[in-house]
Amino acid sequence: MTLHAPYDPDNIFAKILRGDMPSVKVYEDDVALAFMDVFPQTEGHTLVIPKDVEARNFLDMPTAKLGPFMDRVQRVAQAVEAALSPDGIVLTQFNGAPAGQTVFHLHFHIIPRREGEILKGHAQGGMADLDKLEQIAKKIRAQVS
Ligand code: AMP
Repeated sequence: MTLHAPYDPDNIFAKILRGDMPSVKVYEDDVALAFMDVFPQTEGHTLVIPKDVEARNFLDMPTAKLGPFMDRVQRVAQAVEAALSPDGIVLTQFNGAPAGQTVFHLHFHIIPRREGEILKGHAQGGMADLDKLEQIAKKIRAQVS
């Protein structure tokens, strides 16, 4: 699978955007959707994806749409900080399977880090309890500007 294969409209995040699959949402507008990662690497692991664009990765993203999208990534990261008070926040974004990408619709990971807390492997943690995810999402949602 190359970096520039055709966009698959049936990827998991496209299904979430269409409402064909459930997600625990924290923010949504006409530019982006943010929701909880169901296999969180730490508590509060959140994903932000662009809407109305067939971008498999960062390299595919139309330049004109990057600014508004990154604005949403920053706003959600700020909300994660305000809601959860982590000691640090990792932002990650993978391009292509050899780089670690497993879902081929552009997304940024927002991963809160706390002193002494172990980071679970990328896409390797167990599935989170959905009620717990909803409780965390509620706190983040309340902080998005
Ligand atoms: P990546 O490997 O960078 O493509 O990241 C994909 C992320 O999506 C991983 O962290 C997965 O845990 C996460 N993920 C996979 N399926 C779902 C889902 N249905 N809802 C929320 N997150 C998901």
